[in-house]
Amino acid sequence: MVNILMFGPPGSGKGTQSVTLAEKYNLLHLSTGDMLRAELAAGTELGKRMEKIMAAGELVPDDVVIAMIANKIDSTTGKAGFIFDGFPRTVEQAEALQTMLGDRSMKIDQMLVLEVNDAELMERMKKRAQISGRADDADPAVINNRIEVYRAKTEPVIDFGRKASVYRSIDGVGSIDEIFGRLCDHIDTII
Ligand code: ADP
Repeated sequence: MVNILMFGPPGSGKGTQSVTLAEKYNLLHLSTGDMLRAELAAGTELGKRMEKIMAAGELVPDDVVIAMIANKIDSTTGKAGFIFDGFPRTVEQAEALQTMLGDRSMKIDQMLVLEVNDAELMERMKKRAQISGRADDADPAVINNRIEVYRAKTEPVIDFGRKASVYRSIDGVGSIDEIFGRLCDHIDTII
């Protein structure tokens, strides 16, 4: 099994790249953002509890996303591994994932970090706001908050990746195909 963390700030292209990488390598794409939005759309109790937090661009509690990921890992068959998108977003989540995988005789194999400068991120988020229909994309103050939350709580996970010797930095500026090629070059070294 191959487990890849797709990492980077909001707007760095994690979701776009994860979908095509998952197809190419037969991995299950696990996006906690998508899972949470599905709860919201289905009007579940959990979705209702998370709605305000997400609309403000804050992080939902660690135990909520950790449980979601554990359920998906345990109910999946026929895949060559997992690609994690938007998870882990805190050091606590990263440690929980490491333990969860370890308990199942797996590990984090690579952490691919898409590097994109702030000006380009803001430009991409503005464009996405016009098409995504997401509440957290519509308000520039919420976008700014998400970037701040990323810097404060999520970026420290990069150190975790360095210590685990899985960190790889990827230039996230260029065409979607170019960036896809850069990511594949890294994944091909472990497959
Ligand atoms: P982005 O485009 O900002 O990367 P995501 O779709 O990954 O967006 O996440 C949207 C929102 O869902 C986040 O701002 C946060 O409120 C919540 N969320 C998603 N994943 C996590 C996570 N791993 N931990 C905590 N909150 C999360």
